[in-house]
Amino acid sequence: MADTFEAKGKRKKLVAELRQKGISDEEVLRAIDTVPRDLFMDPAFLIHAYVDKAFPITSGQTISQPYTVAVQSSLLRVKKRDKILEIGTGSGYQAAILAEMGAKVYTIERFRELFLKAQGILTSLGYSADFFYGDGYEGKPQYGPYDGIIITAAVSEVPESLLHQLKTGGRLVVPLGDSSYQVMTVVERTGPDGFERSGHGNFVFVPMLKGTVNGK
Ligand code: SAH
Repeated sequence: MADTFEAKGKRKKLVAELRQKGISDEEVLRAIDTVPRDLFMDPAFLIHAYVDKAFPITSGQTISQPYTVAVQSSLLRVKKRDKILEIGTGSGYQAAILAEMGAKVYTIERFRELFLKAQGILTSLGYSADFFYGDGYEGKPQYGPYDGIIITAAVSEVPESLLHQLKTGGRLVVPLGDSSYQVMTVVERTGPDGFERSGHGNFVFVPMLKGTVNGK
């Protein structure tokens, strides 16, 4: 898939805007500067690909706002070769950012259509990530434990099963709240039964829902 000169210029502007909004993790900014977000969106929205906003994708879901992707990616504190589990593949853009940062990405999506599409885009961009069609509430214990877990859909309680798939010292980043808004929350695993929470601003996500959706 082709990246264009125009898109590259727009990404530079987006990175400058994210810096102004307080994003300072250079690896996150470099990844946003590199990954062509326009390829993850419906053709009708191409013109808006580098505006700092969320946009609708298929199956009634959204591609997260670049600022939100930047905040979640920064809070994960990704190091090269870290194992990261993402719940809510959606467009695949967040997964591509993490792969660009050098993480080994495992990502789960409950909509079959989105799972297939995202897998296709990342593969064509040359990123290797492991895609799963399934219910993220269960996680993927067989590939864990993980250095980081990122949930990109809103939950009212942190799913217990996922906490237990974190390494000691690992971080789970999750928007926690009701449907009106959520607090970006980091849960750090400090020991076998030790977990510490911190809050990092308000966001609005689509809800994390149980089960899978196989149709269009
Ligand atoms: N990370 C995405 C944002 C996706 S929006 C991106 O970069 O585009 C949230 C996604 O979470 C939606 O695609 C939704 O279908 C998915 N989702 C919601 N509940 C889920 C669950 N239980 N398991 C897996 N995916 C889920």
